[in-house]
Amino acid sequence: MLPAEVLVRAQAEMLDWNGSGMSVMEMSHRGKEFMSIAEKAESDLRALMAIPDNYRVLFMQGGASSQFAMVPINLLGERSSADYLLTGQWSKKAIAEAKRYCDVNVVADTSGSHFTTVPSADSLDFSPDAAFVHYTPNETIVGVEFAYIPETGDVPLVADLSSTILSRPLDVSRYGVIYAGAQKNIGPAGVTVVIVRDDLIGNAMPTMPAMFDYKTHADNGSMYNTPPTYSWYLAGLVFEWLLQKGGLEAMAEINRRKAEKLYAAIDGSDFYSNPVDKVCRSWMNVPFILADAELDAKFLQQAAEHNLYTLKGHRSVGGMRASIYNAMPMEGIDALISFMADFEQRYG
Ligand SMILES: *Cc1c(COP(=O)(O)O)cnc(C)c1O
Repeated sequence: MLPAEVLVRAQAEMLDWNGSGMSVMEMSHRGKEFMSIAEKAESDLRALMAIPDNYRVLFMQGGASSQFAMVPINLLGERSSADYLLTGQWSKKAIAEAKRYCDVNVVADTSGSHFTTVPSADSLDFSPDAAFVHYTPNETIVGVEFAYIPETGDVPLVADLSSTILSRPLDVSRYGVIYAGAQKNIGPAGVTVVIVRDDLIGNAMPTMPAMFDYKTHADNGSMYNTPPTYSWYLAGLVFEWLLQKGGLEAMAEINRRKAEKLYAAIDGSDFYSNPVDKVCRSWMNVPFILADAELDAKFLQQAAEHNLYTLKGHRSVGGMRASIYNAMPMEGIDALISFMADFEQRYG
């Protein structure tokens, strides 16, 4: 979901942004109107996340999947290996991509539990000569997340924050690089936010395309080529909305309550279940299965009749998944819980 207020505002500004006589889609990305939109989006994101001054914020394209390659391309430098935590389908993809560029030490692997848990902080044994440590704080498909930030000493920590960015406050200074495709918790698809500590810029492999070098984007204010202007604008409207809602402390409070309520309904039923360890259940992605998978299609169809959409679980795990990002209000959780109870009563 995107916040309704944001969509209504975009609608109002669709044909004429701020008296400019143009739609944002029609603006030159280098014109003063779009430059002001771009700068405000960055300063609002910096305020929301309290991003320190020695970090650059890049608005890029190519999604988190491109970052799977850009991270090793930019961070390896003279080194030949990196540490990765394997905790789900997205970290698995990040590892596969990194293997094209370096030796990957898999320092934790929870595939044995079908990714229903995360490694404990004290079980992590990082390699002193790794160029960086990469992990996925929230694994979107299985709905498992880290309740702690791994301690990596002087080795830069890299996080694929695609599905949990902006859901709560985060100490950005603990990270070397944070990246997130916008389409989960920021705005529409098309823009990828990369937050990178400035000393990690400028070391890209020289044979790689300029577009894959963080320095290209940092030196050009993310306008080396034409950026995804409309997605950037909508992301900016979402940042403004979040600030108005009280920022990330306020989001954390409501997100925690939303997730707790939904998990309590699942755990309190004999018909629905969630296999993830209670201590590392995701606040954003809540997968659940029905006692009888034969009822899945019926559940989805009837849910849609109650205006409850996109509940189908990822094809790799099946069942259901409720993605309850920032814009999902508590009323949405209540509506889902009440539909689930009703469905259970009729078919359970
Ligand atoms: C969705 C997702 C991705 C893939 O993002 P794209 O922007 O489609 O490349 C990567 N990592 C995580 C954690 C995701 O949730």
